[in-house]
Amino acid sequence: MTTPEFASNRENFCYRHPDRQSFVLCQRCTRTICPECMTQAPVGVICPECMAAERKNRTPAQKRAQRQWRRRSPAALSAVQAGKPVVTYGIIAVTAFVYLLQLVPGFDVASLLRFWIGYLLPELSGAPFQPWRLVTAMLVHGGILHLALNMLALWMIGRQLEPMLGRWRFLTLYVLSGVGGSALFGILSPGSATVGASGAVFGLFGALLVIGLHIGANMTGLFVLLGINLVIGFVPGFGIAWQAHIGGAIVGALIGLIVLRTRKRSQRTAQILLLIGVAAALLLVVFVVAPWVLG
Ligand SMILES: [Zn+2]
Ligand SMILES: [Zn+2]
Repeated sequence: MTTPEFASNRENFCYRHPDRQSFVLCQRCTRTICPECMTQAPVGVICPECMAAERKNRTPAQKRAQRQWRRRSPAALSAVQAGKPVVTYGIIAVTAFVYLLQLVPGFDVASLLRFWIGYLLPELSGAPFQPWRLVTAMLVHGGILHLALNMLALWMIGRQLEPMLGRWRFLTLYVLSGVGGSALFGILSPGSATVGASGAVFGLFGALLVIGLHIGANMTGLFVLLGINLVIGFVPGFGIAWQAHIGGAIVGALIGLIVLRTRKRSQRTAQILLLIGVAAALLLVVFVVAPWVLG
């Protein structure tokens, strides 16, 4: 897989903007389109030409329904239809809100949400069984700098990656990468608890790296951002877990590869099954491999 080879492949460029790299295919004509050329349709994203063709083929009743729907849809729905990265903004809003809760004196939200492998293995640890902590740990942060760096990376990558992947695939990538980070941390560092979106954010890095290398994109900005995040991870006393970074990056790269290899509409079922497979493998790691390693 050499970058120049992919960079010279026309299939890695938008057919309407030959200078823009992308890996997303129109789900109707299967040509490559850039984020600007994508319109959300019930089948996935489609290109402007196919959009025009669909419009022309609509019956008068369908046109009327479409107009009424537009008029009634609230702002949030309009944002969704306009292809804004609403999942990215939503995760940032929820994470910032949880951080504000962390600042409330006497309400220890961090100890309610943080992850420790013992909460998954009550027979070994004697702790209560609280598996949701695999996910909720992503919402809690060790300090304002930790929060700011993660949300900055999420904002920068999410605006780029979410329109390409689509909302559900992006959310799946974020959550499963976070779980992957917690899982690896739990196995390698069973004595301690972890918080933060770092695993999930490193999953975004991993996915974007795989996709970017494939289409031959210029990734200098990505490497700078990645470098800052890596350096911060080794600052003593900062409490950021490199194990979670690696776990998240592995899961993210894997999901990036799956999405890249199953871009066509006909491969949709295969893609969903493969993503479910990743989720199942993570559950296998935390509920079967972890007790075997730690027990
Ligand atoms: Zn098309
Ligand atoms: Zn384009």
